[in-house]
Parts: sequence; structure tokens; C-alpha cells
Amino acid sequence: MLKLETLHRDKYICQYCGENLILENIEDIHLDHFVSKINGGKNEIENMKTSCKRCNCSKNYKDIEIWRSELIKKFNKNISYLNSYGFNFKIVKDYKFYFERK
Ligand SMILES: [Zn+2]
Repeated sequence: MLKLETLHRDKYICQYCGENLILENIEDIHLDHFVSKINGGKNEIENMKTSCKRCNCSKNYKDIEIWRSELIKKFNKNISYLNSYGFNFKIVKDYKFYFERK
């Protein structure tokens, strides 16, 4: 079964945020099509990534680079907000997903 194979390969870790999903209900662990079906991605293990619900819903059918720049933008918006209250967080220029950090 594709889902179990993928979860096993990915050790039940969300390949985007790195959250350990082993204690979650299996229904809440999503399989993400890295290249979405809309963009010609196949239903094969090489194109599947274990994902938490949150990352899967946020990424949706987007290309990884588009999703990355959206996340960076959102993150920096939050940082700017906090900095307006006197914090001094650094604006981020890049974000590496879990599968890229290995
Ligand atoms: Zn995640």
C-alpha cells in the first residue's frame, strides 16, 4: 500500500516541517504529491512525501518554490509585527524544508 510504504520510508516524519507523526491518527497523516497531479505528478512513491495535515493543506497543489516564498513572506510579516513591539527578530531570507536538511 502506497501510504504505508511512504510513511515507513519517511519514518512517520512530516517531510516539510519535521514533525514526528507517529502518535497521530493515521487518518491525520497525509500523503503529499510532491509534484501535484495538476502539474503532472504521478501516484508513485518517488513523488510522495509524508506530510502533516497542516503542511499538506498549506502546500496544496503549489510548486515547492512558490510555497516556500509564501511561507517566508508570512513568517517575515509575523516578525515585523513582533519587532514593532520592540523585539529584534531577524528577517529570514530562506527556509529549508525537513527533507532538504538531511
Ligand atoms: Zn508538517
